[in-house]
Amino acid sequence: MSAGAEGLAALRFPHSAAPSPGTAMEVAPGVRWLRMPLPFQLNHINLWLVEDGPGWAIVDTGISNAETKALWERIFATALDGKPITRLLCTHFHPDHMGLAGWLADRLGIELWTTEGEWRHARQAIADRPGTFHDELADFYRRIGFGDVEETIKVGRPQSYRSLVGPVPEHHHRLSDGMELMIGGRSWRVIIGRGHAPEHACLYCAELDLLIAGDQVLPKISPNVSLWPNASDQDPLGSFVASLGKLRAAVPGSAFVLPSHNLPFYGLHARIEQLRALHEARVAEIVIHCRTPRTGAEIVPVLFSRTLDRHQLGFAIGETMAHLARAVAAGGLARHEREDGVWLFETAA
Ligand SMILES: [Zn+2]
Repeated sequence: MSAGAEGLAALRFPHSAAPSPGTAMEVAPGVRWLRMPLPFQLNHINLWLVEDGPGWAIVDTGISNAETKALWERIFATALDGKPITRLLCTHFHPDHMGLAGWLADRLGIELWTTEGEWRHARQAIADRPGTFHDELADFYRRIGFGDVEETIKVGRPQSYRSLVGPVPEHHHRLSDGMELMIGGRSWRVIIGRGHAPEHACLYCAELDLLIAGDQVLPKISPNVSLWPNASDQDPLGSFVASLGKLRAAVPGSAFVLPSHNLPFYGLHARIEQLRALHEARVAEIVIHCRTPRTGAEIVPVLFSRTLDRHQLGFAIGETMAHLARAVAAGGLARHEREDGVWLFETAA
C-alpha cells in the first residue's frame, strides 16, 4: 500500500472514529460497521453487517487468528440484537477479507457468496504445493534484477497466504458483474473491479446511495496494484484504472462510501480522480527515468523512496512492476531482455 494523502481535505469524512473491535456501529439504515485488527502497518480492516431479512449478512471476515475469532464471538453475542447470521459475502480473496470464510461458514452453518475469480484464487492459493509461490517469486525477482534473490524474498515477501487464511469453503454462490443481489428488502448491484484482485466485487445500493467499496477505492492509501509472477493479467494497472472509470460511471458522486480500510467517506468521484492522477504521474515519472535503460530493481526506489518495512517491500516491487508494465502497454517504454535474462526498460523511441 502506498500513501496518497494529497488533496484529501476535499473529501468529507462524516465519522471521526471507528467502532472499537468487538463492537458494531450503525453507518446507514440496516448497515453496521465492524473493525478487526491486522498485524501489519495497515493495522485494521473494516467489515460490514447488512440486515438480511430475519438476520444479518456479513461482508468480509478478517484474517484467521485466535484474536479475530474471539472478536467475532463477541459480535455474535452482543452486536446482532439476538438475530442470526444469514450468509457471508466476500469482496475478494485477500487474507484480511476471506481469511475466516471457512471458519465462519462452519461455525454458523452459512454459505459463501463471492465471485468465481476470487473463490478460485483462494482455493488455488490454499491448494498450491508449499514453495510454489517462492519458486515463482525467485524467478520473477531475478528478471527484475535483484542480485540476492533469496534475501529479497526473505525481506520482502508478503506473509504466506496459508499463514493468514483458514479453510476456504468448497462451494460458493456466484456474484457476477451487474447482477442485482437482494439483501433483506434492498437491491445491491455487484460491480466487478480488477487490478487490485482478479475479480473484486463492490456492492452498490441505490436506495441507500451506499457503496461497499472493498479495496477497490480507499480514502487514504492507494490500493495496492501489483504485477505478480505468472499472473493472467499482465497489465493490472491498466485494468485497475479502467475499473475506476467503470465504477465512476456506475456509482453517483453523491454515494456514501464504505471502504475496507480507514474511514467511510463522501467524494467518490474526487477520490477516483486522485487515484487516476497518482498512477498517471508515476507512469510518466518512470518513463523519464528510463531514458537510460533500467532494471525493475532500479525503479523501485524511484517510486518508493521512503524506507519500506518488511510487509511493504514485496508490494512495492509488485507495484513498481505494474507501473512498468502499464508504461510498456501504453507504448511509453520498451522492454528488452539482457543476456542474463534480466529485463531492461527503456523509453520508447
Ligand atoms: Zn485486498
